[in-house]
Amino acid sequence: MQKIDMLSMAQKEWEEILKQWGEPTFRAKQIFDWLHKKYVTEIDDMTNIPKNLREKLKQYGTITGVKQVKKLVSQIDGTIKYLFEIEGGLVIESVLMRYHYGNTACISTQAGCRMGCKFCASTLEGVERNLTAGEMLSQIYEMQKDSGERISNVVLMGSGEPLDNYGNVLRFIHLANDERGLCLGQRHITLSTCALVEKIYNLLEEDLQITLAVSLHAPNDEIRQSIMPIAKKYSMEEVLKACKEYSDKTKRRITFEYALIKGINDSDSCAQELASKLHNMLCHVNLIPVNTVKERNYIKSSEERVQKFAQIIEKKGIEVTVRRKLGSDIDAACGQLRRSYQRNNKI
Ligand code: SAH
Repeated sequence: MQKIDMLSMAQKEWEEILKQWGEPTFRAKQIFDWLHKKYVTEIDDMTNIPKNLREKLKQYGTITGVKQVKKLVSQIDGTIKYLFEIEGGLVIESVLMRYHYGNTACISTQAGCRMGCKFCASTLEGVERNLTAGEMLSQIYEMQKDSGERISNVVLMGSGEPLDNYGNVLRFIHLANDERGLCLGQRHITLSTCALVEKIYNLLEEDLQITLAVSLHAPNDEIRQSIMPIAKKYSMEEVLKACKEYSDKTKRRITFEYALIKGINDSDSCAQELASKLHNMLCHVNLIPVNTVKERNYIKSSEERVQKFAQIIEKKGIEVTVRRKLGSDIDAACGQLRRSYQRNNKI
């Protein structure tokens, strides 16, 4: 029997379950409260739930959250990198970043990833499994509990391709947004995708207010295909068309992520080509000097190159920022902590 994944259930769904069990539906709010406000990890800690209902919950349900196995704190800016174990013994990474406007959590949506981007460490062994909505929430809850601080922004930029785990990610967004739980405004949630075009159109129909970040990393198909296998499936023209429709419909500005890799995508002509393709779009370009991944041969662009690239885009009237690097003393590049842990612990 598949047990109820308790952390992934909406309050309305609890009401249905309780009705079926012949229990009063007001218990739904109490259960939801224990899980999403008080962050209990044991059913027996739900002290206002009668013992017989707790027994039923234990028999038919389970609280499947994440468990902290390692934590690295940056001495420079207080960024914390967490390694969490999930059901099945796999591990995932999450990061807590401190900005002047509040704390941002970067969470994973899958263990591993199957998109195969050549510069990324998360994808080296493919996808191990999708995370549930509860496991995504639990990363935030555990970071809040551990740090004692509220998280006000969430970016789905850890390991995994969120749109490749569409149903669970959508469920996560609605649960995180729920005022009876974390109450995180949708505008405070950023979903980053390598651009699965059909899924962007699906997302458009959901009528959400989240920020969409699209990993472009190249100004044309040729370069994009050389570093991102997904670019062979969807052309840049298709990607940009979907993005345009998304921003037209939601009136939300799209963020284009662009990892600058020395000699691959960082020339003046790349910047010009990129700017010309984005000029009529409600967007913002986020430049990220690529993090060196041991297993890959890519080198980050020099500081001067990054600035020049940014200037060219800016001159064409497109808003651009260079991502400030947080936690540089603990950063073993995205996904690398997880990999080294798995190797050393033979997971
Ligand atoms: N799969 C999603 C989200 C996860 S990755 C996506 O592709 O957007 C989050 C961001 O980090 C993406 O823009 C991704 O391309 C980028 N990234 C991955 N590896 C990187 C590296 N080594 N250096 C810089 N950015 C990297």
